[in-house]
Amino acid sequence: MERTPLFQLDHVSVTYRRGALTHQEVRAVDDFSLDIFDDETVGVVGETGSGKSTIAKVLTRLENPTRGRVFYKGREMKSLSAKSLFNFRSEVQLVFQDPYESLFPRHNVRKTLEVPLRLHRGGGKAPSDSDVAELLDLVELDRSILEKYPRELSGGMRQRLSIARALAVHPKFVILDEPVSMLDMSIRAGILNLLMRLKKDEGISYMYITHDLASAKFICDKMVIMYLGKIIEAGASGQVLDRPAHPYTMLLLDSIFDLKRPGQLLELPEREELESSMSLPRGCHFHPRCPYATDECTVTPPAMTTLDGSHAAACYHPLQESRSGSRSH
Ligand code: SF4
Repeated sequence: MERTPLFQLDHVSVTYRRGALTHQEVRAVDDFSLDIFDDETVGVVGETGSGKSTIAKVLTRLENPTRGRVFYKGREMKSLSAKSLFNFRSEVQLVFQDPYESLFPRHNVRKTLEVPLRLHRGGGKAPSDSDVAELLDLVELDRSILEKYPRELSGGMRQRLSIARALAVHPKFVILDEPVSMLDMSIRAGILNLLMRLKKDEGISYMYITHDLASAKFICDKMVIMYLGKIIEAGASGQVLDRPAHPYTMLLLDSIFDLKRPGQLLELPEREELESSMSLPRGCHFHPRCPYATDECTVTPPAMTTLDGSHAAACYHPLQESRSGSRSH
């Protein structure tokens, strides 16, 4: 029997109008389709401006698609009843990049966790100390920090507290928007390991939004790579990372293994002015940066084409060899 996806995004586009006089159109996301199932961690990977955070807003109903449809558990989101919407707000949570910004500075740890616990119970009896302490245990924070304020915690502890706050309402799905990018390298692995354990123990699915392929490789089951609002490669993480087909994915991967800056992304070449999402290049949007571009690439945008099982890429001349072997066109 075919499984119903937890989320289904069906040809979603999000367009903004900018400029009081010019009404210039900015397409943040263009024709984005993706199925997300229970028990999956799906990576959405791209540079700033690729549209990945707009996808998070669409999934949490902070943004409505200009075109296309979004389904949650098989029902179109815009037709959810008030009761279904209340449940949805608990079941889908967001963890932000900057825990300091997202935590209320005048709430200590106890209050930070009591508020969502109480909301989840419909506003009745105040949660007990042991309810709050259990949440701290879940994210491996010491119970002694109950009376501390966010400014008194380290960056890693603040992010663990943000995760605990999201868990307080027993979510099915958590969107992680660059959750480790502001943390020291030394504490990133601890947070990623925690997220993986919570997925297994609590049965949570994730969307992991990042510009960092190294951390996506660590945590994601499947991933989509975005460039200027469009998906340019998608597949199981092993397929995308071991046999990247799109030259942009290869560029991102090569930047991880730059020996001068191990473990960090390279500064990618600056986009040309015409590459902004207000004035996209004709044909393949990546062609001004692509070493393999041909005349064909400058005329019509390439469609996503299946390469192997769920692995697909939008490129006229996909790379053909594994990352460990030679590669060719
Ligand atoms: Fe490069 Fe052409 Fe492929 Fe675009 S379609 S990524 S320009 S080879």
